Amino acid sequence: MHNGQPYPTDREAKKLIVEIGKRMYAKNFVAANDGNISCKVDDDLLWTTPTGVSKGFMDEKMLVKMRTDDTVLSQGKRGPSSEVKMHLRIYSENPQAMAVCHAHPPISTSFAIAGIGLDKAIYPEALVNLGTVPCVHYETPGSQGIPDSIAPYAREYSALLLANHGAVTWGGSLMEAWYRLESMEHYAMVILYTGSIIGKANVLSREQVEELVEIRRRMGITSGGIPRGAARPSNTKDVPAGHSPDASPPLLRRDCADGQTQEDAQVREITEKVLERIKDLSIKERNVDDVPL
Ligand SMILES: [Zn+2]
Repeated sequence: MHNGQPYPTDREAKKLIVEIGKRMYAKNFVAANDGNISCKVDDDLLWTTPTGVSKGFMDEKMLVKMRTDDTVLSQGKRGPSSEVKMHLRIYSENPQAMAVCHAHPPISTSFAIAGIGLDKAIYPEALVNLGTVPCVHYETPGSQGIPDSIAPYAREYSALLLANHGAVTWGGSLMEAWYRLESMEHYAMVILYTGSIIGKANVLSREQVEELVEIRRRMGITSGGIPRGAARPSNTKDVPAGHSPDASPPLLRRDCADGQTQEDAQVREITEKVLERIKDLSIKERNVDDVPL
C-alpha cells in the first residue's frame, strides 16, 4: 500500500509503461531513443524502461525490474537508462512519488534551453494539477549531477525543467505523472502563444490564485508551488463581440506598408533620431571649438 492505495501489480505496471511510451512518442515528446519512464510496484521495487530503445516501440519483455537501491533484478537485452538515477532520487526524496516520466517535449525543452521556468498564473488546470515548474541548472545527462540538482525540489514540486535538456514529472500513480507531463507541455505552449504570438495575457489575481490553491489542497495535492498573482483581477468583464482589444504579436506582426515588420520600422525610426542627435551634438561641438579663448 502507498498513499492509502494498493501498488499496481507487475503486469499492470508493465502494460502501462509500454502504453505511455507509445503516447510519449506519438505526441513528439521524445525523438529516437530519448526519454524514460518508471513505476513503483512495492516500497522498494520498480519497473523502468531500458536504455537505447525508442519509447514508441517497446514491449513488456524489454522492461527492467529494479530495486530502489539501483540493483537490477531482471531485464531483457538492455539494462536501465543511466537517467534512472534521477527517478531513484525522486523516490528517495519524496515518499509520495510512485512514478516518474522524463522526456524532451519541444516547447517545454525550449523554455528549459532559455532558462525560463513555467510559473505564470494564467490558467486553473495547470495550477491545480501541475503547479509551477522551476528550471533547475544544467548538469550532464546521465551524470550524478542531475539527481543532485533535482533533489531540493522533489517534495515541494511535481515537475521540473532541466536546463538545456528536457522535462521530468512525477506523481502518486503513473497516469498522474504522465498527465503532468502532458499538462506541462500544454502549459508551455499557452505561455508561448500568449507571450510571443498574441503578446498579451491576463494574469490571475492573487485572490483567484488562492482559490485554486485551496481547491488543490482539498484534492490532496500538497506540491506544486504557488505562482505570483496580479494585485487586481483583469478578467472579470465580458468582452462583447466587436470590443476585443487588438492582439499585438510582438514578433510576427507585419502591418507596415513596405512589408517591413513593426520592429524594423521602430529600429529605423530610433536610428534616424540617434543620427540626428549626433549631428546636432557635432555642430555644437564645432561651435564650442570655434569660440576664441
Ligand atoms: Zn533526457
